[in-house]
Amino acid sequence: MSRINNPMEIFKLLNGSNCRECGEKTCLAFAVAVFKDKKPIRACPHLPAEVIARYGGETEKPDTIDENKAKAVEALKQKIPSIDLAETARRLGALFSNNQLTIKVFGKNFSVDATGALSSDIHINAWVAFPVLNYILSGSGTAPSGNWITFRELSGGPPRYAHFQQRCEKPLKQVADTYTDLFRDMLEIFDGKQNSGHLDSDVSIVLHPLPLFPIQICYWRPEEGIESSLHIYFDSTSDQNLDIESIYTMCEGVATMFEKISLRHGAK
Ligand code: SF4
Repeated sequence: MSRINNPMEIFKLLNGSNCRECGEKTCLAFAVAVFKDKKPIRACPHLPAEVIARYGGETEKPDTIDENKAKAVEALKQKIPSIDLAETARRLGALFSNNQLTIKVFGKNFSVDATGALSSDIHINAWVAFPVLNYILSGSGTAPSGNWITFRELSGGPPRYAHFQQRCEKPLKQVADTYTDLFRDMLEIFDGKQNSGHLDSDVSIVLHPLPLFPIQICYWRPEEGIESSLHIYFDSTSDQNLDIESIYTMCEGVATMFEKISLRHGAK
């Protein structure tokens, strides 16, 4: 990975169109933001993948990862006909009607029928379908305790913690640093509820990716001499309702979605 020595080094790689697709007003502002580690270099959609890779920015997920996740989703769907959906709905406190189990995903209806077919008010992609199907197949139905813990404290969390920070918390922090108000709005769009300053955070919002799987996103603004920070907290019962791979997948999906929305709308 090449070290970035100054903003001009990045600026020289940009096309100079000032198109604002990265969310910055000019290419120069973008170069400065990358130099200060406030924006990932991949936020400029016009840079070739090899340039992004050279500067240590992860490019879009390789197709193989998406394909693997899509295959995993298909395998999970095939398990649905072997379970009793009505009983599963009772266990999870979900709705069962017309041979369909319906749960709320970010407050929106998400249904699965006895054949494993999915339907929803939200766009269904692998990062949503994978955790939702695992929740339906294996969730214990344990009610949240109200005690918040870190990813590292979840069962199976420690070995994945570094990746979790890199792929989930860091991108969300970059969105919050750049567009704090938009960040708050986006949380509210996804049915987030303001919490009262958990751990003295400046922004503290609880989202329900799944009914028995709340997450709390806390953001601390920068202060003189102190960098901003952002952490995602989980209910202490989370790993009883969702496996660690699903938790990671859901959080990575949330971070990716927020990044995309902020890049599209943040400059407006
Ligand atoms: S996306 Fe940003 S950095 Fe890339 S060309 Fe447009 S303004 Fe410049």
